[in-house]
Amino acid sequence: MSKWNKHEVKASLIGKHQHLFSCPVCSQPMRMVEGKSLLCTNQHCYDLSKHGYLHLSARSHKTKYDKQLFTSRRMMCNNGLFDPLNEAISCTMMKFMKPLFDHKSHLYLLDAGCGEGSHSTHIQDKLTGKGITELTSVGMDLSKEGIVAAAKAYPYSLWCVADLAHCPFANQQFDAVLNILSPSNYAEFKRILGEDGCILKVIPEQHYLQELRCLYEQKKPAYSNDNILSRFKDNFILLSAERVTYRFMLNADLVEPLLHMTPLSWGATEADWQRMEKIDLPYVTVDLLILCGKK
Ligand SMILES: [Zn+2]
Repeated sequence: MSKWNKHEVKASLIGKHQHLFSCPVCSQPMRMVEGKSLLCTNQHCYDLSKHGYLHLSARSHKTKYDKQLFTSRRMMCNNGLFDPLNEAISCTMMKFMKPLFDHKSHLYLLDAGCGEGSHSTHIQDKLTGKGITELTSVGMDLSKEGIVAAAKAYPYSLWCVADLAHCPFANQQFDAVLNILSPSNYAEFKRILGEDGCILKVIPEQHYLQELRCLYEQKKPAYSNDNILSRFKDNFILLSAERVTYRFMLNADLVEPLLHMTPLSWGATEADWQRMEKIDLPYVTVDLLILCGKK
């Protein structure tokens, strides 16, 4: 083994999968050059960052909330908040992607709107446990803070700052697109998804984190995801819609990260925070819908 540093290992990994990428500016193919940059045939150049991710967007999104949100979200993910969800997603993939798993020697998974990267990483771990070992996971998000956190924690996947409206990938490269509690761009998802690939979209159901919603003085109107569901069905053949509902037991250490991991808390007033910090929250309800579709 030569004395490669992490950066070189990452550049080599991206080079191996360079066919996935297309230039976000001109859509031309890209290739890894000099072990440090992706270069398109029109000479648009994207350097690999020191943390090992690619910045493939003209813009990025950064707010003062991001770092705390992603740290909190990582802590909740690592403590199992979404474990039953991730298990259900991996089972859905095993059910509907069996022909792909049987016939392709290598598969590609895209997590579109990956944040700090825990969902796709944990889902890949579950797939590995079910015998799916030849799979490369790619995460994209417009939030640089999220991608930095993902690249630092999970060096064996590919991570990029990228814009859903201009996904920096060639046509039909992915066998599965994950889109978990995150905005969509269905035209782009259809373009980059392979013929037999599946999209797995997770949306909140009525009781998702209801204990937190109840903490606010001004209650939101009843939630409905009818519009999201009908838009999904306008774009994909719906293979399954599975509701996953469970209570996640909290210990005292997890209340604060739970309050900080979701944009729900962004609307909280000072009075809300004072009340929330004193609250005894024994559990929180997770109530989500997994939509699985194909082109
Ligand atoms: Zn270009």
